[in-house]
Amino acid sequence: MLDCILAHEFSHVQQGYLVDSVQQELIAYQAAAKIAHALDYTVGKQLYDRFLALNPANSKDLDTVLALILDLASGSLPTQTIYKSLPKTQPQGAADTAIAAIRQLSAAGIAGIQALRK
Ligand SMILES: [Zn+2]
Repeated sequence: MLDCILAHEFSHVQQGYLVDSVQQELIAYQAAAKIAHALDYTVGKQLYDRFLALNPANSKDLDTVLALILDLASGSLPTQTIYKSLPKTQPQGAADTAIAAIRQLSAAGIAGIQALRK
């Protein structure tokens, strides 16, 4: 399963964006699903297969992705807080990227407080 998490995080590194988005989360979870299949991880396939049929360019699919990743993070309010702060699609241009970065940093601050309250 660590391989799936590494694939997810490596996908983010490869994306090379300053800020995250639901769209990029889908691509990263699809990478995790492909590793789960390549290594035949039953649990990994159960967790990540739901992402394989979804299209990063489809707005309705991205709504589904947000619901799925909030479900995956159901045990962690701080993680949910950060996921909820993500723009649906990858921000384009400096202003949109800066706004998304401020939202994500604010969410990270709130998530930090939530983590301390546990
Ligand atoms: Zn991610």
